[in-house]
Amino acid sequence: MQRRPAFPARLDMPQAPTKGVPGAARPAQSPTPQGVGLDSAAVRTRMVQRLAASGIGAASVLNAMGAVERHRFVDSALVNQAYEDTSLPIGLGQTISKPSVVARMIELLLGADCARASGLGRVLEIGTGCGYQAAVLSRLAREVYTIERLRALHEKARDNLRPLRLANVHLILGDGMHGYAAGAPYAGIIAAASGDSIPDEWCAQLAVGGRLVAPMAAADGRQLLLVVDKTPHGLKQSVLEAVHFVPLKSGVV
Ligand code: SAH
Repeated sequence: MQRRPAFPARLDMPQAPTKGVPGAARPAQSPTPQGVGLDSAAVRTRMVQRLAASGIGAASVLNAMGAVERHRFVDSALVNQAYEDTSLPIGLGQTISKPSVVARMIELLLGADCARASGLGRVLEIGTGCGYQAAVLSRLAREVYTIERLRALHEKARDNLRPLRLANVHLILGDGMHGYAAGAPYAGIIAAASGDSIPDEWCAQLAVGGRLVAPMAAADGRQLLLVVDKTPHGLKQSVLEAVHFVPLKSGVV
């Protein structure tokens, strides 16, 4: 029996591809068209270069994005798209967010007053999905609590993260609509699903100096990225660019 390669042959090519040979054609969406000796690190480096060019300035975020192997979090049929700036299906109608959005939201989180003063402490992620963003966060925050309402995805994330042995990531099966009080207060809360409003519990569970970064549906149906800072004088809200996330839903299934 033939062994499956650990990394997709399309990305991991020790030899130059044979040009013009029948059967050697690569699908149009391949991110590595002229690949000679490419491996996943090289493709990731290119992704990081694109993130930097698009305005992500925090070296710590770029390093974390360069370190986490996104291809390990997507279906084997999609690995050749893993380093494109696109969201991808992860099952049950959910998606892994695109790298530029993950990097942007985490960079915003690092702008929290308390994070600037002493580094990012405890973070709550609403919507674990496949666990990719939690893995990136684990390199930047002291503790990561991540909550998912779909049991099958919670388990998928656990399987995806197990080999990484990230001692500071805590996976919770539950309804993140109520946040996760047991880990509060949080220096940062980051939501990967969009609701019509920001639940009061999220703001209540933020530390003073902490920051919430979340998509929210606007009246016209568009989703906008929202930043809420908890200051000693109350909550301060900023509305940023349009985004596109899966919906925030209640209940655990
Ligand atoms: N951060 C994820 C993106 C997952 S997509 C990743 O890196 O893969 C958003 C996820 O939010 C979905 O898995 C969806 O099931 C989950 N979700 C939606 N509403 C939720 C809720 N109330 N509590 C917890 N998770 C929720």
